[in-house]
Amino acid sequence: MCIFCDIVEGKIPSTKVYEDESVIAIRDLNPQAPVHVLVIPRKHFDNIVDMAHNDDGAYSAAVVDAIAEVAKIEGIEDGFRVINNCGEDGGQSVMHVHFHVLGGAKLGEKIL
Ligand code: 5GP
Ligand code: ZN
Repeated sequence: MCIFCDIVEGKIPSTKVYEDESVIAIRDLNPQAPVHVLVIPRKHFDNIVDMAHNDDGAYSAAVVDAIAEVAKIEGIEDGFRVINNCGEDGGQSVMHVHFHVLGGAKLGEKIL
């Protein structure tokens, strides 16, 4: 059972900002900045290392494109932050790889 797989499949509702054949981008349930969007590959990878080892590059490329697309849609292209927490020591709480896109304010150093 994986929360983000359920969100990808529509079993758990989410607010989508962007989607394509490879990824979805949804608003974080507990936003840490005025804009806080999660870019999530539709395919389950446990974390960024799993994705690096088990993707032929298509998902990684789609994630980068989606981040740029989200920044454009949200009007934060001039400045934002992308965060990936990997593993327990990295503070990852949902074990389906995802990328936080944060912006809409001048971000301090301590976030996430
Ligand atoms: P992590 O700590 O793994 O890097 O980030 C997980 C993020 O997922 C957290 O920021 C948390 O607020 C968000 N999150 C957890 N469950 C849900 C959910 O059901 N829906 C949405 N939209 N975000 C969630
Ligand atoms: Zn999953």
